Amino acid sequence: MEKIKNYINGRLIEPKGGLYLKNFNPSTGKVYSLLPNSDKDDFLLALRGAKRAFLSWSKESKKYRYNILMNLAKELDKNGDNLALAESVDNGKPLWLTKEMDIPRCAENIRFYATASLHFDSKLHTMDGKAINYTLREPLGVVGCISPWNLPLYLLTWKIAPALAAGNVVIAKPSEITPYTAYLFSKICIKAGVPPGVINILHGTGVGVGEEIVKHKDVPVISFTGGTETGKKINALCAKKFKKASLEMGGKNPTIIFSDCDFNKALETSIRAAFLNQGQICLCGSRIFIEKDLYPKFKAAFVKKVKELLVGDPSSKKSFLGAVVSKAHMEKVLSYIDLAKKEGGVILCGGKRVFLKGKLKGGYYISPTVIGGLDYLCKTNQEEIFGPVVSIMPFENETDVIKMANSTNYGLSASIFTENLSKGHRVSEKIKCGVVWVNTWLLRDLRIPFGGMKDSGLGREGGFGSLSFFTETKNVCIKI
Ligand code: NAD
Repeated sequence: MEKIKNYINGRLIEPKGGLYLKNFNPSTGKVYSLLPNSDKDDFLLALRGAKRAFLSWSKESKKYRYNILMNLAKELDKNGDNLALAESVDNGKPLWLTKEMDIPRCAENIRFYATASLHFDSKLHTMDGKAINYTLREPLGVVGCISPWNLPLYLLTWKIAPALAAGNVVIAKPSEITPYTAYLFSKICIKAGVPPGVINILHGTGVGVGEEIVKHKDVPVISFTGGTETGKKINALCAKKFKKASLEMGGKNPTIIFSDCDFNKALETSIRAAFLNQGQICLCGSRIFIEKDLYPKFKAAFVKKVKELLVGDPSSKKSFLGAVVSKAHMEKVLSYIDLAKKEGGVILCGGKRVFLKGKLKGGYYISPTVIGGLDYLCKTNQEEIFGPVVSIMPFENETDVIKMANSTNYGLSASIFTENLSKGHRVSEKIKCGVVWVNTWLLRDLRIPFGGMKDSGLGREGGFGSLSFFTETKNVCIKI
């Protein structure tokens, strides 16, 4: 069976302890490769190499770093088909989705920050001719990047790219549930001429190797994307060392549909927002609020269309949904469907594990599930399920829906559908979350500040914000 390797100091190597974890293909439920169960020794080896690499990488010109990153993006594009297939196999998501979304975004992330670094300026403040202040932005050193399984290489490159462009070096830990494309990425880094030690990728668990990265004093900054409970733990560890931490965490996002919406646009977009990537996107709209007079018509059309979504072989273009990421995750999602029933919910469609045939019979498939009749404050409507499960509810008026939308501990994103732009602005202002879409969903401009409020996040990533985060600020005041 294939063994994934760590990428340390420019080389692909086995874990020092010789221990491996199983890597499953969620579409079949079978183990198809092994990944290093790395530990402190692997981390310390990576740290030594990274610290050495920082001495030269941080002193290179921006143009030099730009050239390496652009090379990396080119190599990613060349390997696009291979990466797309690998991501689909490793994660269970449809191949058409990895081809359209996940993999193109990786090269895009890298090109975006390679070019952004050339435009990243420092500030100057003059003091009435008496003095000049100029502000330097210096790289921080070895950066820790910890990423989740739902958009594996997409989110890993979203962190690595700005960190490197700002002159840092990286120790990255991809999710142990989806390690494979990070492994392919390591090989691509070698091919693209990334200098040894500039990018290091350690595979393994959060507790086994992730915490080593977070705890060590020589890693002064952590960029984390994952669950809120993990984020809390990481933030507490960072606080002990006064580390900079950027935390992108869970969501329970509202989709708000007013009666004056463009019906077809709202219907189509809210279905995509609910079920794309099997509902496993932090930005998925899992609570759908529909204005009372539109509720019966919208609910009927929504359920009819969701019933038509095909759950199937991730390699087939016809499958809108593939497998969810793991057995444990499937069980968690199904347990929430049971909870919803206990809480008085009515399963309007789906609600079950789907068993496919042939080699896919052991895969982790769930039918897209729509639940009605739940109170907006019940657990099903308050906790992140992170699967193909949504709850739909009617609302009376603007004031009512704002209260319902803001009722969770999360505050990542929201989508509002109305043809009345004044209403769109008004409601956007009142929703407590970091990203609001009006009449759309997941329309991303990489320059915007991205992140969540409340338990969804700390800090913002994106645009020059990420380059600021990955640099230290120093002011120099010169008396004239
Ligand atoms: P997770 O928190 O279980 O794991 C995320 C990463 O953290 C993994 O690499 C894991 O190994 C590592 N980790 C776990 N414990 C750790 C520890 N103690 N120290 C260091 N590292 C540790 O999350 P997940 O299940 O992989 O991902 C799903 C979650 O991610 C969902 O809650 C989703 O909403 C969230 N997410 C958020 C965003 C966003 O931008 N806000 C984007 C994608 C996913």
